[in-house]
Amino acid sequence: MLGVITEMKSIKRKSTNPIWVGSLKIGGNASISVQSMVKTDPEDISATVKQIHELESLDCQLIRLAVPHLKFARALGQIKKRVRIPIEADIHFNPQLALEALTQGVDAIRLNPGNIYDTEAIKHIVKAALKRRVPIRVGLNSGSIWSYKSLRRRKTKKQTAWERMVDCALEYCDYIESLRFKDIMVSLKTSDIDTTIKAYRKFAKQTDYPLHLGVTAAGPLLDATVKSAIGIGTLLAEGIGDTIRVSVTGPPHEEVKIGYRILGSLGLLQRGPEIISCPTCSRCVVDLVKIVEEVQRRLMTNIYSSTARLKRLRVAIMGCAVNGPGEAKEADIGIAMGKKWGLLFKKGKPIRKIPVAKIVGELLKEIRYAK
Ligand code: SF4
Repeated sequence: MLGVITEMKSIKRKSTNPIWVGSLKIGGNASISVQSMVKTDPEDISATVKQIHELESLDCQLIRLAVPHLKFARALGQIKKRVRIPIEADIHFNPQLALEALTQGVDAIRLNPGNIYDTEAIKHIVKAALKRRVPIRVGLNSGSIWSYKSLRRRKTKKQTAWERMVDCALEYCDYIESLRFKDIMVSLKTSDIDTTIKAYRKFAKQTDYPLHLGVTAAGPLLDATVKSAIGIGTLLAEGIGDTIRVSVTGPPHEEVKIGYRILGSLGLLQRGPEIISCPTCSRCVVDLVKIVEEVQRRLMTNIYSSTARLKRLRVAIMGCAVNGPGEAKEADIGIAMGKKWGLLFKKGKPIRKIPVAKIVGELLKEIRYAK
């Protein structure tokens, strides 16, 4: 049965079946989680643990580890003991890797139907996952979808990539469910935004599985930010999606930061300030770029690591007294700059003047102690 719709701010989120990945709830009424993937050499366990710790400090909520060989699969237990956040083992081609990862106590398994489609192998993995109550992500991507062999040996009709992904995902999930396994989440990623959106939309209409959203191979930082904001953001704005991973050709901490920014921009974050700042123009009377960068830098050093303590706030930093006060009044905390002073607003009311040299420190205090 398809789920009911629940209200969350202005976005109505589709209700999905909740699953637990270790201590992290995904789907149901859980907040949308942000995840990333470790990018270290699998031979270097210390570097892997270090990178996971860095991501933990940014409030990353789930870490995926590619498991390229058995040696690394056997090291997963050791890694797990040294980190706090749940670990998802990313498995391709070799079902033995999934079985070993489960033995080592991972919190979730990702299977790629494009290269793990032998029914006997799937049965073994599902049995082991069931025994340990570990969920499975059915993780499709367009790059490997054409190698998928229909589990029921169906003749495949002519299809577009997204139609095929949806069909394969449905069939794969049906098969897993037929083995009495229910803790399933699904991803349907492609590097093309339109294809990705179509696939998720169609799949979300037909099922209640929690969805892991992402645009895969999204490119270097700027491209990945834009593509993910459009692809993931469009789906989230439609209420689709339970957990997100931004794919960046770059360090994983960028993925986490972008993930949170996407959620924040859509009003889907319950914590942490959102900065609204003007683009500046010739009316700007201060070095606004420097001020905003400094506020951002000092907030970001703790926004992700202590977001639980920071309230969700809109903070406007505007460059002049001509157009600045309008936006500053609409924010929870706002400042409109004059040449020597900035006028501070709280909840739409002017509160006090602050000398320009003290603006960063005073704003940070207001943000930290906001009630
Ligand atoms: Fe220009 Fe003032 Fe608008 Fe900023 S707020 S863009 S400085 S007019």
